[in-house]
Amino acid sequence: MNIRKTVLIVLAGVCAFACIDDKENKTPVETKKKVEIQKEPTDPKDTELYEPVPPIVNPTGQGGVPSDAIVLFNGKNFDNWIHTKDESPVKWILNDDGSMTVKDKSGDIQTKQKFGSIQLHIEWQSSTEKRASGQNRSNSGVFLQERYEVQVLDNNDNDTYVNGQVGSIYKQSIPLAKASVPTGEWNTYDIIYHAPEFNPEGEKTKSATITVLHNGILIQDHYEIKGTTPYIGWPKNNPHGKGALRLQDHGDNSGVSYRNIWVRELD
Ligand code: MG
Repeated sequence: MNIRKTVLIVLAGVCAFACIDDKENKTPVETKKKVEIQKEPTDPKDTELYEPVPPIVNPTGQGGVPSDAIVLFNGKNFDNWIHTKDESPVKWILNDDGSMTVKDKSGDIQTKQKFGSIQLHIEWQSSTEKRASGQNRSNSGVFLQERYEVQVLDNNDNDTYVNGQVGSIYKQSIPLAKASVPTGEWNTYDIIYHAPEFNPEGEKTKSATITVLHNGILIQDHYEIKGTTPYIGWPKNNPHGKGALRLQDHGDNSGVSYRNIWVRELD
């Protein structure tokens, strides 16, 4: 066999193998699609999508709340809330101006409804009268799924450990900025929270993530939550399903008030 014949036989073999391999792994449609994707579009229509069509949301619906939001507190009653410790009716103070104030040592409160991933809007106000220092000045907290605390604190001229200051994911994530308004004025938190995922064996397959805007300023940027946010100890992340939104009574006469609380479910 001369060299030319040998080369031809080898080439034919390679071609045959490639053809078999191609037939086994790709349908003609897939191959066509791949070619189409790789080809640079020349018509604007090639890159335009017309579905799925996003739903229409009125951002300033009834009471200025997005039309698809669930209103959790509108200033009129505690119908959507219970005390965390015993599920009893809420004893916090309902104010004439449409806000509520923590009733000292009555305990945390939480929503009756449980949530997974949410967009949350909540407004809070530090007390101008309670002038303790450090962690004891208007300390409260917004707990996602009953476990993960976004710190509420009056940090104006009142420093503390930075992973426990206002806007921190308590003892886990230092906020990117301190964006508080003057004490006694109303702060806003706008939060995008995605719940963690666990497999049937109870192992975490995806961490919860949280993004927080404090008065419109980005202070937590898609932070991956490690687990619970205890005062003492490391974060733990035992498997769980949906959970309530919980507000903290720090137990030291914080005087913190809340108003205008709504969520949009994201799952
Ligand atoms: Mg707190």
